[in-house]
Amino acid sequence: MAFDGRFYPRYGHEIGRRCEGAIAALERAEGSLLFASGMAALTAVFLGLLRAGDRVAVAHAVYGGTALLADELLPRVGIEVLRFDPFDPDALAGVLAGRPRLVHVESPVNPTLRVLDLAALARAIHAAGALLSVDATFVPPPFQRPLALGVDVVVHSATKALGGHSDVLAGVVSGRDAELRAVERHRRLGGAVLGQDAAWLLHRSLATLEMRFERQSRSATTICRVLAAIRDELGIERLWHPSLPEHPDRALVDATLAAPGGVLSVEPRGGLARAAAVYDRLRRFHRSPSLAGTESLVCLPIDTSHAGWSEARLEAAGFGAGLLRLSAGLEDPEALADDLVQALSATI
Ligand code: PLP
Repeated sequence: MAFDGRFYPRYGHEIGRRCEGAIAALERAEGSLLFASGMAALTAVFLGLLRAGDRVAVAHAVYGGTALLADELLPRVGIEVLRFDPFDPDALAGVLAGRPRLVHVESPVNPTLRVLDLAALARAIHAAGALLSVDATFVPPPFQRPLALGVDVVVHSATKALGGHSDVLAGVVSGRDAELRAVERHRRLGGAVLGQDAAWLLHRSLATLEMRFERQSRSATTICRVLAAIRDELGIERLWHPSLPEHPDRALVDATLAAPGGVLSVEPRGGLARAAAVYDRLRRFHRSPSLAGTESLVCLPIDTSHAGWSEARLEAAGFGAGLLRLSAGLEDPEALADDLVQALSATI
């Protein structure tokens, strides 16, 4: 899709269009639109596709910023938000009975790495006359392609794997021209287009996307294997990564993800106090709420992406306050695993 960016850079610009074309090719989308952040991209999807009086259904298990956007901003402009558990077919049927215009989910889910049956969701949602948007930030194209499964709109925080060097804040929306036209209209009016310098950095990053993501996926898989082998000794309550044989959505992982990604989550026994002690003892993971950079990162979602969430809300999202989210970078995976083993052993 070509929005003529020669007129004025807020309407699109040369390097932005080149980068959008490259991402659209990766997604096999009719087009892509770049935004100043992942949140700007999500805002444009909601406000571009919805009007006052519309309803939107948003999954319980989404990035905390998306949940806040749905709770605070959308009702203020007359958009009613319905929340639901996308893993529960009855909950989906219930929410579709409320006739939403749009359903928004995340897959893999932050930070539990659960994977949704996007093809089945798309079928049910289309039968109810609604559109499906998915935040696919945790596994970028070409490693998953939600549009091929029937999803209408795909959103990424390009700050993460697509940017990949922790030096650019960006978001991207991909899909068909029909929906993108409305989303671009919002971008043009709201002004949250990605600037030229950031678009240049993002475009540079695409050349190494596959290498980085494959390496990070292998490293996280190695780390998980080491931890899983001695999980009782290390006092691990739950371990989350799409590579694990016991992953709750094993068949969907195999069918829809070409790589599991570099993010894994660990819930040590002992709740938040122990998780905080592990966090304090890690030496090779930088403390940061981001992910998929070249350097390994760790965060406590309860203090960052999901700050302020109640116990009940965390339970609905499927994890506890004592979950540590780790993102494997490009360092030696054995050294990263050793670091986790020492931090878990010292705190048991
Ligand atoms: N979606 C997901 C899944 C995220 O993890 C994040 C940020 O952490 C966002 C959206 C928001 O992206 P940004 O920080 O680029 O605005």
